Amino acid sequence: MKIGDPVAYLDSLRELDRNVFVLGERCDCTVDHPLVRPSANAVAESYNPGEEPEAEGLLYATSHLTGRKISRFAHIHQDTSDLVDKVLMQRLLGRRTATCFQRCVGMDGFNALYSVTYECDQVHGTHYHSRLKDYVEWVQDENIVIEGAMTDVKGDRSLRPNQQADPDMFVHVVDRTPEGIVVRGAKAHQTGALNSHEILVMPTTAMREGEEDYAVSFAVPAGAKGITFILGRQPSDTRKVEGVPLDVGNPTFGSQEALVIFDDVFVPNERVFMCGETDQSGKVVERFAAFHRQSYGGCKVGVGDVIIGAAQLASQMQGSVKASHVRDKIVEMVHLNETLFSCGIACSAMGLETPAGNYDVDPLLANICKLNVTRFPFEIARLAQDLAGGILVTMPSQKDFENPEIAPYLDKYLRGVNGVPTLDRMKVTRLIENVTVGCGAASYLTESMHGAGSPQAQRIMIARLADLDEKVRLARRVAGIED
Ligand code: SF4
Ligand code: FE
Repeated sequence: MKIGDPVAYLDSLRELDRNVFVLGERCDCTVDHPLVRPSANAVAESYNPGEEPEAEGLLYATSHLTGRKISRFAHIHQDTSDLVDKVLMQRLLGRRTATCFQRCVGMDGFNALYSVTYECDQVHGTHYHSRLKDYVEWVQDENIVIEGAMTDVKGDRSLRPNQQADPDMFVHVVDRTPEGIVVRGAKAHQTGALNSHEILVMPTTAMREGEEDYAVSFAVPAGAKGITFILGRQPSDTRKVEGVPLDVGNPTFGSQEALVIFDDVFVPNERVFMCGETDQSGKVVERFAAFHRQSYGGCKVGVGDVIIGAAQLASQMQGSVKASHVRDKIVEMVHLNETLFSCGIACSAMGLETPAGNYDVDPLLANICKLNVTRFPFEIARLAQDLAGGILVTMPSQKDFENPEIAPYLDKYLRGVNGVPTLDRMKVTRLIENVTVGCGAASYLTESMHGAGSPQAQRIMIARLADLDEKVRLARRVAGIED
């Protein structure tokens, strides 16, 4: 693994030559920008062996391509225990960072493409699968971060890609040469885009006949000519540039999304994994979505662990922890959080081998997992806010605590249980603020709603996979109703 630790990873980001804009200004070194750095720190944790006894077995795997030790984030899942370990790894990193650590999207992307390229080659006589295997082997040895890019900007949602007034609303091929293709368009909400070395692009929906130019999948370096990144904002994000870590709540880690624009970007043939095979595009979308819906049964649960801990700690610090309603609310939070985990483990344990030899999750259970994720974190956040109290949004700034004229007042009047430093009480309250209403809510709440597809996308899949005819047959048989 060329990039072996967090320091080497952060240094590798400094070497990238990209076209990036942050708050309206060009940013040559994102990793040293205070607005972006916490998100790079979160990804860097995927390179940190850590101190947890289980970390080594979760963060690393053995490549089925080379037999070498690799990051699990670069692994192609070989059995259901790999799928379970993936979820456990994500919970572990969620517990460390209390945010989105961004590296899963690329992993989920090439795991989906692994089986689809194999099946595409069988149907169309193409050679995408061996290309993808070469790419994955390179990613494993370099140990780089891949941004999985699926969501197109979509323009008028009532129109198909080839019906849009502007044909660039979905990433598409605009030119073909003997050496490769030229693509144009934009991908929105791109998790970890500024912390990635490569971008792996996939179609955003099942394409139809006539939409061949939109049925395209490929990988390009983040610094490829024609690519522009524009960082998205999050609530209270500029607290990170004010030099007030207390006010940030989670000063070390954060998440990050960007708009990524492809303005006539050249892609060499060896990095093209689909080009025109419309009948295969829907499978990429469904399998990637299933993998990322499984992922949320790990990462959001890890963040939930930190929130539950923060709610319990805040209750201890303000003397309410023994009240029966507080205990009930903490138990309710645990119940919701572990239900999400159960779904993540279930869809993994029920995974199935694909014709290519790798393992997919159970798609129905993965969709159930994610549909719960669109709800339960909101209830966990509501309960955490309930337990934290109104101080959550009325706390003075770190700068007030540093002003000798008013600091003694704050220390005296914002104290909870005697003996607990007032500043510690403020820190844990700010953490709850961060994940439930501040910049951390972008990943814990809004991403839980829309990441890996909005709730309606899961409902459509659940309706398709539920096999209601079989359930009707069962009911008829038990009730003694003849056909
Ligand atoms: Fe990974 Fe979760 Fe972030 Fe997706 S939302 S990239 S699964 S941490
Ligand atoms: Fe996500």
